[in-house]
Amino acid sequence: MRGFVFGGVQKNEYIELIKMFLRPSEFSVNDAADGAPCALRIELPAALTGAECRDKDAVKRFLYDRLSALTGKSLAWGILTGIRPVKLFGELVEKAGGDEVCARRRFRDEYYVSEAKTELTARVYARQRALVAPPAEGTVGLYIGIPFCPTRCGYCSFTAGPVPYARVGAYLAALRREMDFVAAGMARKGLCAETIYIGGGTPTFLNETDFDELLACVRRRFAGAGTEEFTVEAGRPDTITAEKLRAMRRHGANRVSINPQSMNDATLARIGRDHGAKAVRAAFRLAREVGALRINADLIAGLPGEDEADFTRSLSALLDLAPENVTIHALAVKRAARLREEDAEYSYTRAEQAAGMLRAAAEALAGASYAPYYLYRQKQTVGNLENTGYARDGKPGLYNVRIMEERQTIVALGAGASTKLYVPRENRLTRAFNVSDYGIYTERLEEMLARKQRLLFE
Ligand code: SF4
Repeated sequence: MRGFVFGGVQKNEYIELIKMFLRPSEFSVNDAADGAPCALRIELPAALTGAECRDKDAVKRFLYDRLSALTGKSLAWGILTGIRPVKLFGELVEKAGGDEVCARRRFRDEYYVSEAKTELTARVYARQRALVAPPAEGTVGLYIGIPFCPTRCGYCSFTAGPVPYARVGAYLAALRREMDFVAAGMARKGLCAETIYIGGGTPTFLNETDFDELLACVRRRFAGAGTEEFTVEAGRPDTITAEKLRAMRRHGANRVSINPQSMNDATLARIGRDHGAKAVRAAFRLAREVGALRINADLIAGLPGEDEADFTRSLSALLDLAPENVTIHALAVKRAARLREEDAEYSYTRAEQAAGMLRAAAEALAGASYAPYYLYRQKQTVGNLENTGYARDGKPGLYNVRIMEERQTIVALGAGASTKLYVPRENRLTRAFNVSDYGIYTERLEEMLARKQRLLFE
């Protein structure tokens, strides 16, 4: 057991870094030097503790050096624990007066990011600058959450999941009220939705009538001449019907996300899904027949029971379907996930294998003319690896880019949605949250409307 003594500094970010080197069962953290006995004690030097030390990165570098020497490990993302490396890279470029070489050097030397991840970050940054103009004033991104799914995936940490359909009506009624409220507020403020994203959960879990009404509501209230992208998540292919795809087209959606996660039937059964690869192919076929929809497809690296050959077979089967966007996720096993109960150290044991999968994916996607256009990290992913969005033919998912840039207000509706107001003067976001439980959301909607009113419309 290793012990860490922090002498009163704010610990959470540092614990994240320690966890990237050591499993939680291998260390403890104390505030005072006389804490629990342990085989090895790492104590922050006085210069790095107390209110006088504002340089968090210096603390992280100190810990990184000690931990790397102790374990023999180096981390691909160095001391970075945040989820937006591209945003940080952009800030470094700006500070260096546009000098990207300087930003790359700082990424490697000050943040200890590997050559490969620095290169990936710089490529994503360049791609975004080439493809996506800064958001125009008065535009927002609009998110609407449908927190229902046909079954619960083994790695799911959201409150989304199966629900008796009889309870859906009350949720949709509350959501309609929130849409009315937000649409009126946006009209008063002269805001328009540049992007609309209906996510979840699985929005196509709704039956055809409810789905059509939801999309009609969204279009009437929010879609306008300035709306460039309208995405609907249809994560589970077994919830997609020709009629739902036609409703998307009728109501102006131009992007759909069909997310197999794996094209391996045994894996899909293992993670708790009710469909196989055949349903994915059928959903793609229907979407192409309906037309006018760009397709994104997600795959996950590090799923239980899969090796690199399984993963690359899935990717190859997916590429045969020619989606416009592909997003490769590193599996995140968070506290609320069933998989975490089965194996608390899953993220550690599958780290190297998942890293190999991401490398294989980058190579295969480059070979098929996909370029990385957005990238983010999550906590508790296998090997602390990243999620990367790839696009063919210069057609990125605009909403995804905006979310990661954090330079535009995101107005989010529905259970679990978090609204972020962008304050340009201070280049920061302030937030208002909706509760994540759909039943409580329905009961306490007024509170959430009041929060939105204060944040966005006063
Ligand atoms: S599809 Fe997504 S939200 Fe639904 S259960 Fe699976 S991981 Fe959770």
